[in-house]
Amino acid sequence: MTETANTPPAPIVDASSPKEIADGVFVIEDHRIPLVPNIGIVLGEHSALVVDSGMGRANGEAVLAAAQKLAGSRKLYLTITHFHPEHGYGAEPFKGVAEIVYNRAQAAELAAKGEAYLDMFKGMGPAVAAALENTHLVEADTLYDGGEHEVELGGRKILLKTWGKAHTQADQIVFLPAEKILFTGDLAEEKTFPIFPWFPPHDMDIDAATWVKALEDCIALSPAIVVPGHGDLGGGDILVGVRDYIEDVKARVDTGKNKGMSEDAMVEALGPEIRARHPDWHFPEWIDFAIRYFAQQ
Ligand SMILES: [Zn+2]
Repeated sequence: MTETANTPPAPIVDASSPKEIADGVFVIEDHRIPLVPNIGIVLGEHSALVVDSGMGRANGEAVLAAAQKLAGSRKLYLTITHFHPEHGYGAEPFKGVAEIVYNRAQAAELAAKGEAYLDMFKGMGPAVAAALENTHLVEADTLYDGGEHEVELGGRKILLKTWGKAHTQADQIVFLPAEKILFTGDLAEEKTFPIFPWFPPHDMDIDAATWVKALEDCIALSPAIVVPGHGDLGGGDILVGVRDYIEDVKARVDTGKNKGMSEDAMVEALGPEIRARHPDWHFPEWIDFAIRYFAQQ
């Protein structure tokens, strides 16, 4: 098969030039490449934290090398915002080099679904399969219970926070309270239709109400910079956009249900309306998943 203009670029992280968004806070940008996340590297006096790894061994190695170059002799931590492959399946090269830390529910979700998602993603085409070649899932070194965990990097405190089931079973944000910088994972993507991974009966672990609550709490943090899971960096308006979208889809589906519309009829009628409200957003294929999620609540 030949490459066409419609073939998405390979999901390769370009870790060559992390962008310094604040003193000692770097982002390896996704450049809007599908299945590449925004990745953070945060330096303190004695330690450094990497936020997400990219997908697969080679991407993880590239991110680790970039982090080591910036961190020098500092102790390294890696945290993962949620178990989805493009965010955390590059963790393997970090094992034994960095302390991998995230919440217990995320670990349980990775243990339950990780291998199935690895197989599913390998079936998404040769470029994705190549990125996942020789990739093995690894466990965290440190798991925290409850909603919050603090990591001290030396002169810089990092807050890891989860609300439980939202976009996945245990999405986690990373917040720098002093600088008011927020890494959202896929709780917020910029100019992108929010990903509702609603794959009944295999994966139905979404809670839109908790997702909205998480976004509300993030808005209340008044972040100066929001680093979304995917897309360009911005401010709190990214969070507002995602919250409003979720509430809008829910309201439209509730109205459809009250009219007695079937799920398929709602997808057909509401999908184009919702898409038209966000003409500059990417990946409209996720609209139907959101409609079907709300239809079945
Ligand atoms: Zn995700």
